[in-house]
Amino acid sequence: MKRIGVLTSGGDSPGMNAAVRSVVRCGIDEGMEVYGIYRGYEGLMDGEIEELDRNSVGDILQRGGTILKTARSEKFRTEEGQAHAAAMLNTFGIEGLVVIGGDGSLRGGADLARRGIRVIGLPGTIDNDLGYTDYTIGFDTAVNTVLEAITKIRDTSSSHERTTVIEVMGRHCGDIALFAGLAGGAEGVLIPEIENDINELCKKIVMGANRGKQHSIIINAEGSGISSQELTETIQYRTGKDTRLVVLSYLQRGGSPTLRDRMLATLTGAKAVELLKDDSDSKAIGTVDGEIAAYDLIDALEQKREIDRAMYDLIGVLSK
Ligand code: ATP
Repeated sequence: MKRIGVLTSGGDSPGMNAAVRSVVRCGIDEGMEVYGIYRGYEGLMDGEIEELDRNSVGDILQRGGTILKTARSEKFRTEEGQAHAAAMLNTFGIEGLVVIGGDGSLRGGADLARRGIRVIGLPGTIDNDLGYTDYTIGFDTAVNTVLEAITKIRDTSSSHERTTVIEVMGRHCGDIALFAGLAGGAEGVLIPEIENDINELCKKIVMGANRGKQHSIIINAEGSGISSQELTETIQYRTGKDTRLVVLSYLQRGGSPTLRDRMLATLTGAKAVELLKDDSDSKAIGTVDGEIAAYDLIDALEQKREIDRAMYDLIGVLSK
């Protein structure tokens, strides 16, 4: 394959740049022409495409966000939009496309694959919500950002003997809350996958305070089923303890990628080029048991992500 394209789509995640750099430099090393496609599928349909050289991806490895920009595109969800996007790739002579994004972006990639484009999907999302891979690019950095916030909030919560509810991202997948809750020593974690027992949580906070606990940290994933505002008010009302809400929001998306995210991005990017060089069918690349692995793109998207129940239960044990 001579000419390939790379785009980032959906929510940005730390490590996307490292992946773009890897695709561009490995591709050029294999004698390919590598085209950057700006603003995800929206930019693809608009023809925002230019050839990249080794220098154009210099000094981006350590940067959060994405130099290719990203977008969510309603038009691309239509048959007409997808046909238009495939035609644009044909116009530029791009035979293989690397899509870096979350579940929706890779589904979009699968639609292009059905139209004859070879698509390699890289898991670029902080949510860790893709079933076929143990980790996604950006998840580790996002959890570390949440941990940093928890550490700081603990100081002030202890001083004021407060309960603090911290809202983190995760509309459908509770992994950010779960991992940050376990590693950050939270008293409670509310996630979309497991039914929440607010009464039990309030009882735990009161009993903890009676035993001399200085503070309680509760992590609420945004898709847990209860709004963080309502949760905060309910805890305050039922425990009688001063309770505050901190919404971390887009803070979780930014920042320089951690070692783990840089490695995952770099290795999956290199693997994408290797597959395209060999004219492989469309694949999704991820990491399973510490190894980089490639799966059929459609099959990969059918794998459902399971929550780690043992990890959830351990949070309960450790914070009794
Ligand atoms: P994040 O996990 O960060 O939200 P994502 O890739 O899941 O990232 P989405 O907004 O779901 O983010 O998807 C990005 C874009 O991919 C959408 O704006 C749309 O253009 C395209 N897309 C999403 N779902 C589909 C689908 N089922 N079929 C075709 N295209 C899709």
